[in-house]
Amino acid sequence: MSNYIKVKCKCGEEKIIFSHSTSVVKCSKCSEPIVHPSGGKAIVHAEEVEDLG
Ligand SMILES: [Zn+2]
Repeated sequence: MSNYIKVKCKCGEEKIIFSHSTSVVKCSKCSEPIVHPSGGKAIVHAEEVEDLG
């Protein structure tokens, strides 16, 4: 099962990410890495705002 989720960085920037991302995703505003690949569901270091399915 894979899906997209909307996350909110601690700086307030919202970003839509792939829940099974295979690469590190950085915040476009503060460059903080907010998603880390884990081989399965990515580890999200941000608040999950919305599940987009
Ligand atoms: Zn940020």
